[in-house]
Amino acid sequence: MSHVLSTYARFPVTLVRGEGTRVWDDAGKSYLDFCTGIAVCALGHCPPRVVNAIREQAGTLMHVSNLYGTPQQEELARVIVEDHVKLPGKVFFANSGAESNDGLIKSARKFGHARPQPDGSPRYEVISFTKSFHGRTLGGINATGQDKVKEGFDPLLPGFKHVPFNDLAALEAAISPITAGILLEPVQGEGGVNVATPEFLRGVAALCKKHDLLLLLDEVQTGFGRCGPTMAWRTIAPEVQPDAISWAKGMGGGFPIGAFWLSDRAIDASGKELSSLMGPGSHGTTYGGSPLACAASLAVMEEIAESDLPANVARQEQRIRETIAAWQLPVVTEVRGVGLLLGIGLDATRFVVPEGKLPAAFICGKALEAGLLIPPAGPETIRLLPPLNVSDAEVDEALGILKSVLSDLEGPGVRG
Ligand SMILES: *Cc1c(COP(=O)(O)O)cnc(C)c1O
Repeated sequence: MSHVLSTYARFPVTLVRGEGTRVWDDAGKSYLDFCTGIAVCALGHCPPRVVNAIREQAGTLMHVSNLYGTPQQEELARVIVEDHVKLPGKVFFANSGAESNDGLIKSARKFGHARPQPDGSPRYEVISFTKSFHGRTLGGINATGQDKVKEGFDPLLPGFKHVPFNDLAALEAAISPITAGILLEPVQGEGGVNVATPEFLRGVAALCKKHDLLLLLDEVQTGFGRCGPTMAWRTIAPEVQPDAISWAKGMGGGFPIGAFWLSDRAIDASGKELSSLMGPGSHGTTYGGSPLACAASLAVMEEIAESDLPANVARQEQRIRETIAAWQLPVVTEVRGVGLLLGIGLDATRFVVPEGKLPAAFICGKALEAGLLIPPAGPETIRLLPPLNVSDAEVDEALGILKSVLSDLEGPGVRG
């Protein structure tokens, strides 16, 4: 009997070791890992550069209070601002995606106090989107546009509203005097790999300007090379200028770290910067941005840049899309996504799903048995999240496994 709280519907496997794109279970069986801890192990398992950076930093200085500065935190903030965001601003370091999003929500509320309604009362509402996912903290589940994460946790917090994704008219209609910000994933990950259209992203940015709202981007799953050279929003609509961005997942390559960035843009005639709203005493965390976490993340950033992994991401995306299209399998409805965050839509009427299982999770279980780890994204989409340095041979092998899993399904019209 397990003593671990059963919050996860786990696949029946216990993993004990990893190297590159491969992991091994406790019986010695190996798997190709296209789940990568859900887009966390951006460089695969145990990448030597990150392992060495962690070893060295662990033996030098592992943790100090955020009451004191460290060179690793300063350097990582510089790399994030200068090489990735490329807009003036400042970074706060957290430990996870949900915590980073809480930072965005708190920033929006600060902004709503600094720029209140005409009668002086604060604005506080954050509008986000259906099928979004923003994490499991109280702030995260309230921002998330899926009922399943909220069940049994009411009363809900005030100040959240959801509208359909990629629907500008619905968004504009939802904006009210209490609205302070709009929060979105440029590519919805957990909700089914749904990509924001360039027109939508530009339109959201224009609405934020028009109504004096913060544009808050959740790049927790999409950032740092997963969906293009810097951030997913830049791959989709490079001219958009967000006010705040959150990250976690891939930025630590497997070491827990999250962060959010706030723009230095002026928010009033006196030149007061948005980033200055989160001043001393406004926010904090004990662990966030430890020298150990920052050293690991710096090694990840260096490897992505020096090995030009964005070029590999674009190349492998192309290869995966071409290969799956060539299968012409009727169970595959479409391939959605950007870079190496790809979702394969399934036509669940074409195969028999055992009772009590969701179609995508059922396929992921079959893939696991066949030696490939992939996660679902919503009920009818399976997700491919290989490491950014995945090789041609590994992609070919994984797609070979997937093709035979999908071709061997029982049901009407699996093979057309
Ligand atoms: C995973 C995820 C989160 C939550 O991150 P945690 O580290 O699990 O708290 C938030 N937003 C998005 C887009 C995510 O994919």
